[in-house]
Amino acid sequence: METLDPRTIVFMTTLMCGAMSIVMFSVYRSFRHEVHGLGHWSAGLLLLVLASMLFGARGMLHDALVLVGANAALIAGIGLAMLGTEKFYGQRPSLRLYWLVFCLGVGGIAWWLLVQPDFSRRVALFSFLVFLFYARQAQLVVRHGERHFSSFFFGTLMVVQACVVLARGVSALLNDSASVNLMVSSTQASIYLAVANFMALLLTVGFMTVATRRLQAILERRSTHDPLTQVLNRRGFGDAYAREKANFSRHRQPLTLLSIDLDYFKTINDRYGHMVGDQVLAHVAGIIGGALRESDCVARFGGEEFVVLMPDMSPHNALGVAERIRSLLREPADVGLPPCTVSIGVACQASTEEGLEQLLSRADAALYLAKANGRDRIELDASGPTVARTKSATGTDSAR
Ligand code: GH3
Ligand code: MG
Ligand code: MG
Repeated sequence: METLDPRTIVFMTTLMCGAMSIVMFSVYRSFRHEVHGLGHWSAGLLLLVLASMLFGARGMLHDALVLVGANAALIAGIGLAMLGTEKFYGQRPSLRLYWLVFCLGVGGIAWWLLVQPDFSRRVALFSFLVFLFYARQAQLVVRHGERHFSSFFFGTLMVVQACVVLARGVSALLNDSASVNLMVSSTQASIYLAVANFMALLLTVGFMTVATRRLQAILERRSTHDPLTQVLNRRGFGDAYAREKANFSRHRQPLTLLSIDLDYFKTINDRYGHMVGDQVLAHVAGIIGGALRESDCVARFGGEEFVVLMPDMSPHNALGVAERIRSLLREPADVGLPPCTVSIGVACQASTEEGLEQLLSRADAALYLAKANGRDRIELDASGPTVARTKSATGTDSAR
């Protein structure tokens, strides 16, 4: 069987890098607000393709021009990938490091190519500089990567690549320059380029893996959370309820639900505008969340109605939580929002047979009672288990 011509391999890997850059760019176009760094990565890859094409043009163009240009494109491309990874992990891009490395790299390579030709030093300089880019990315993954296969994969690739370039730099300094001289034989040069291209491709796949994982988490959150208030939506609440219901069936600890509705919210919209209304909703969601325990969850059900699920919470204690929410809302908001009050209905899971819809309708019945009784009140569903007490707005508890 004939072995593949290294030039063909370079050509193919370059083509794949180009294709990957297009894929990355289209993902960037669709998700630039959700996943940061994709644009830098796709531009970086494009520069690697350019570098590869320049190397390929040796013989056609002036050698020095080709080498300086190709190395500059390589350094800029690998650096852009580093900036992309920094943005991906929410860090400020190290622009100073980027430009310092770029100028040092291009200056040094031009010096050891044109003024004092020295191949070993050129390779060593290039390798040590791009080592910085790879090492920085490995550090980012270790520090900020989530515990997931994608981060492990991406991080390992970065570490391997950092080690490879470091070893190449050291060997360039220690050994006879011929062993690393890409000019000695074009076959050796092509093999090196093919490996470098392949590694760039692999790193891109690594980056795409972490980016896809991020996207998955974002989409999952979107499908379970309300974008305005950032609390759960109906679907997310349904999942949370199913989990807690299973616990309820196992341990028989009380599971209590609050149905909360803002009073006369339409008036707030009419008087201050829809935007302020939205801010009030987000503020109220924050107040409710702040009054709860870690294990409780809050959701926005439609317009200005919230529900809270509290595992291992007796109806009596739930009344206390509801009262806390009501009194916290009465404190003036330091963000200058108009004051608002809420009415709250409380219901407790009656049996394992009862589903979310029934529990909700009992909490809603208590809520309507609170509305009917004058609003800014809390009412407990009477048909549920134990504690038939309500708390009124005036603070006078009334037996029911
Ligand atoms: P009540 O005390 O009986 O609950 O009176 P209310 O005005 O709060 O209730 P009503 O059902 O009459 O009005 C609810 C209002 O909530 C009407 C609607 O414009 C407003 N609303 C619903 N969703 C949103 C939203 O996402 N943002 C804003 N700003 N307003 C919303
Ligand atoms: Mg209302
Ligand atoms: Mg309502």
